[in-house]
Amino acid sequence: MYVVSACLLGINTRYDGGCFCNEKLLELAEEGKVIPVCPEQLGGCPTPRDPCEIAGGDGGDVLDGRCAVKSRNGADMTEKFVKGAYETLKLAKVCGAKKAILKARSPSCGTGLIYDGTFSGRTFRGNGVTAELLIRNGIEVYSEETADDILEGDVLRQQT
Ligand code: SF4
Repeated sequence: MYVVSACLLGINTRYDGGCFCNEKLLELAEEGKVIPVCPEQLGGCPTPRDPCEIAGGDGGDVLDGRCAVKSRNGADMTEKFVKGAYETLKLAKVCGAKKAILKARSPSCGTGLIYDGTFSGRTFRGNGVTAELLIRNGIEVYSEETADDILEGDVLRQQT
């Protein structure tokens, strides 16, 4: 079972009310192996909403209280992002998910690289708030850009 960012499955959870459609992940969902989640919605953010980025750090810094998540208009969204991360972790635990495939570069879902807080499209090394919390709790986290190997492994296991 995989926790997957809802916006990768054609569900309109993005800040602008849109989504992405990842065909491989949709196939995985059709096989009943996916729990779709949007941490920002789970944390109480509306959709659509102002875009948010982590200001001066990464998701680990947010979880440890060293920096904030700010919306483009300057509102402090930290509490909602942290709540959404913990709700996502709860869902993963309830469903026994050991792996997650989350949207690249998002301040919640990004792994390895996230937007740098300047709303300029530049990136910064680090994980989003939810990705970091899942990793700290032993869940393997991939993005849609790095998930090919595990997805192919999953398909291969099915065929043998
Ligand atoms: Fe929700 Fe994560 Fe997609 Fe943002 S990247 S819309 S938080 S699922």
